[in-house]
Amino acid sequence: MTILRASVAVPRPVRRLFTYSIPPALAPRCRPGVRVVVPFGRHKLTGYLLSLMEGEQPGSSPKSLRPIEQVLDPEPVLDGTILEVVRFAADYYVASLGEMIRCALPGMKAQVRRVVSVTERGRRALEAGGGVLVDASLPRIASDPRGREILGVVAEFNSGRGAAIRLDDLRRRVGPRFTTRTLENLRAAGFLEVAEVAATAGPRPRLEEEAVLVAHDVTAAGAKGARRRRLLELLGEAGGRRSVPGLLRDSGASRSVLRALETLGLIAIESREALRRPASFELPLQTPATLRPTSAQKAAIDAIAGALSTRSFTTFLLHGVTGSGKTEVYLRAIETAIRSGRKALYLVPEIGLTPLLARRMRSRFGEVLGLLHSGLSDGERYDEWRRIRNGRVEVVLGARSAVFAPIPDLGLVIVDEEHDTSYKQDEHPRYNGRDLAIMRAKMSRAVVVLGSATPSMETYVQAERGRYRMLALPGRIGPAGLPRVERIDMRREFEEVGRESVLSRRLLSALEERLRRGEQSLILLNRRGFSTFVLCRSCGEPIQCRNCSIPMTWHLRHRRLRCHYCDDTREQPVTCPACGSSHLYYGGTGTERLETILRTVLPTARVQRLDKDTARGRGSVEEMLTRVERGEIDILLGTQMIAKGHDFPNVTLVGVLAADALLGLPDFRAGERAFQLLAQVAGRSGRGDREGEVIVQAYDADHHAIRFACEHDFAGFAARELAYRRAMNYPPYAALAAILVRDRVFDRARARAEEVGLILRGRSERSLQVLGPAPAPLERLRGEYRVQLLIKAAGRKELRNALGRMLHELEGRKVRSESLAIDVDPMTTL
Ligand SMILES: [Zn+2]
Ligand SMILES: [Zn+2]
Repeated sequence: MTILRASVAVPRPVRRLFTYSIPPALAPRCRPGVRVVVPFGRHKLTGYLLSLMEGEQPGSSPKSLRPIEQVLDPEPVLDGTILEVVRFAADYYVASLGEMIRCALPGMKAQVRRVVSVTERGRRALEAGGGVLVDASLPRIASDPRGREILGVVAEFNSGRGAAIRLDDLRRRVGPRFTTRTLENLRAAGFLEVAEVAATAGPRPRLEEEAVLVAHDVTAAGAKGARRRRLLELLGEAGGRRSVPGLLRDSGASRSVLRALETLGLIAIESREALRRPASFELPLQTPATLRPTSAQKAAIDAIAGALSTRSFTTFLLHGVTGSGKTEVYLRAIETAIRSGRKALYLVPEIGLTPLLARRMRSRFGEVLGLLHSGLSDGERYDEWRRIRNGRVEVVLGARSAVFAPIPDLGLVIVDEEHDTSYKQDEHPRYNGRDLAIMRAKMSRAVVVLGSATPSMETYVQAERGRYRMLALPGRIGPAGLPRVERIDMRREFEEVGRESVLSRRLLSALEERLRRGEQSLILLNRRGFSTFVLCRSCGEPIQCRNCSIPMTWHLRHRRLRCHYCDDTREQPVTCPACGSSHLYYGGTGTERLETILRTVLPTARVQRLDKDTARGRGSVEEMLTRVERGEIDILLGTQMIAKGHDFPNVTLVGVLAADALLGLPDFRAGERAFQLLAQVAGRSGRGDREGEVIVQAYDADHHAIRFACEHDFAGFAARELAYRRAMNYPPYAALAAILVRDRVFDRARARAEEVGLILRGRSERSLQVLGPAPAPLERLRGEYRVQLLIKAAGRKELRNALGRMLHELEGRKVRSESLAIDVDPMTTL
């Protein structure tokens, strides 16, 4: 007999597929590419059905297979192209296929709910004790009043409604006395059962009712009464078809009027899909300005169009200084691709920070623009995803995960700000959207344009070697040219002024001048909070986070110390936790203090702070940036969020405070990142008709990253940085992977890291260099110690082989790979 089985990928770090049986009732809907709900251990998961198998499974009894419980999609959601990209990514970044598919389908998973019910044993225990748990074998639970309360609430709910109570409801009813541990104890004792049910399939198409005019002679039969007449009139005016809620609202008629007309056969009620549109689609459109490309822009546009016409995989690096008009080149290239009948993907680092780009794109492309990013609701994203897949979208604007968008006939991929670290996912699986975009373009024989004013060293080297074609935009579009940059040595400022100051005299007078002239200023200070550390004057210790090896930051507004790595907080200390002294010193300036200072020294200025603390809530960033655009803000200060791609023509001054602090903790990319951020924020100045100015304050203003950025000298910086990378055998001259072992106990982390190190060293070829194990620069994070190994290989193939062998060996030793965080092509080794 034939037994139907399915091979399913689950989003768990297990690098193999699982086989499930298919119940006959579900068989017709089980097709490769659909999402399914499957049991996995004690949980239910959304899995991805990849293939069907008939016949007996060799060597195992089919009865032992667990069945698929639910099929979530009427149509497959995974097609060949997406699977090809996902397979490559899973292999390259050493993740499981299921984990990578989950990245490709964000927001598309079944809502699984946990429900709790009381067992017979639990009920007896409750009754026997008259509300008191009596069970000699379980004294701890029996004497726990919290246990009695939880059990009582569950039992009451069960007998009242005859159904299990949802875990969230139980939690709410019991209140703060609810603990997961008590629940777990009750379950272990057999008093309660906890089950998982798949409640909904996740986002679904939203349906809306529409009234349709059927009979045209509406005067005769049913048109008695003003309400009925009015409703039919409105329907006629709308061309015979209108959505029901709007129709009822405008006619003042009730549902019963509608039903009466339906019964009379005058109208019909139909269900139609109503697409959910992203909020930014509601913004007023701009009239697209017709810009005449500069000769450099034209050369770039022509080169890209030429590659598009040959339909062969080509990668370009569009290296253009800030304000050189890269966006216009992208938009023209997209138009060319669309004209030739192919579709385009436009990736940007964070759409939330560039709402004005979405508006510009919408003005230019209208309905054929699709949006995919994390700022959308699950429903909006689902509808956009389906519009894209159905071919109704010609160009997709999206963030990292849009690289997996189901775009048919992809012809052009744009990766703007290709150097940006947010293309790299900072949790497992740690894939890089830019690199996958190049791979995806290769699979679709598409053209890729990587754009940046400060290309990553990896990309720049590829262009120098001729693997990528270099397109240069060396000058700004406007008449003003690149801004003048001045460096202020804050040590000398201190000597001359005789006291510590946050704003140098030079920067302060430049700000005053902008206020007088009615121009705008930006100030970058890449540290939020009020005081960036609190130090004991007696023993010299900073107050550290309990969970991380990081000093905590003082936030005045909430009057609490906060860790910026794990978000833990503590109250304002009265004494030093280390020595008990009461002499505490609040040092270092963050954006919150800077805002206070600016309001004091420039009382007439309209000041706005933009950082993670002020940017909470959907649309708040958009609102702040719109206010800057309208000229309602004089000074916008903030963290690196203010540096991202904004184009404000009236900004003529950019100030950078504590530029040397941008170098941060020791990391091989620290210099590159500081250079990029400085160049990017400096580029916000002087984008209109007037010349811009940049003032950079630092204590160590001579670091090469700061110096080259202030001189607008990318080539000089790259030469220096690449020499360092070559000498230290870092990327782009080596393929790098970081393996992080985390554990609450340091010695355990260390021992496991040693084991991994031995495996890697034991089998490795000479082309492999293994460094460590050693404590990571961030030695403790979120309560876990972190021990790190770095692997450098001559090529990516050698690196992947070594990691594959290592994982294989660890699986043989039953070491769970979750305890290792493997980062291929890491952005940081902190
Ligand atoms: Zn102390
Ligand atoms: Zn912390």
